[in-house]
Amino acid sequence: MNQIRNIVILTGAGVSAESGIDTFRDAGGLWEQHRVEDVATPEAFARDPELVLRFYDMRREAIQTKQPNAAHHALARLDAEWRGELLIVTQNVDDLHERAGATRVLHMHGEHLNAWCTACDERSPWTGPLLDRPACPECGVAALRPDVVWFGEMPYRMEEIFAALREADLFVSIGTSGAVYPAAGFVRNARELGAATLELNLEPSQGSSWFDESRHGPATEVVPAWVDELLTRK
Ligand code: NAD
Repeated sequence: MNQIRNIVILTGAGVSAESGIDTFRDAGGLWEQHRVEDVATPEAFARDPELVLRFYDMRREAIQTKQPNAAHHALARLDAEWRGELLIVTQNVDDLHERAGATRVLHMHGEHLNAWCTACDERSPWTGPLLDRPACPECGVAALRPDVVWFGEMPYRMEEIFAALREADLFVSIGTSGAVYPAAGFVRNARELGAATLELNLEPSQGSSWFDESRHGPATEVVPAWVDELLTRK
């Protein structure tokens, strides 16, 4: 690889799998007889809000019992030691990158530990349930929903992501299936913009052929090995 200064890292559910958080596909795609895709849409929330809130309350509670793994820690170390630009764009709605100590993190699909008020548009930190329809701490209206981007909604901060991709010398995709757009298209954007591209995943993803290089194995092994390599070659 040529001189690398600016790095964009895309992470997906695979980076948190070894912390005990089910990936989207590994959850079997089914939750109480509902396809996960069917509880993660604005239409589902309009049709059956209790069902959707219960699903997210369960996941919000679960992630708070999980711990960052060696892959999150390695990325946090890279974040602390890398002197060039670095952006960790995560599709994950858990907070394990932050709990490992990473700071340059962008949650393009929102965050489980936030509630979003559809009345006043404010976001508030949230660790408890939403099923009991609590009032928004900002405006007092009971109109909170999970601050999670559902299928059919626009991911957050796309302009910032594309600005970082334009400057990137290296794009790395970790633990993501390459099935959910627009994130799945970032590798092609990065290539067109001149970045080298690397995939770290348990197995070849749907977009594997777009990467210059792919390394396969559990994130807790391949990510720390790659970070060590990068930090010793600079
Ligand atoms: P995905 O489930 O579609 O794909 C996960 C990928 O990770 C797969 O390619 C799988 O082979 C790989 N993987 C599984 N275990 C791994 C391991 N130990 N090491 C390395 N790779 C491993 O998930 P996705 O691509 O992130 O997209 C699905 C959507 O689901 C995303 O939008 C995401 O927001 C959401 N999601 C988030 C979480 C979370 O916040 N932790 C969990 C589940 C789903």
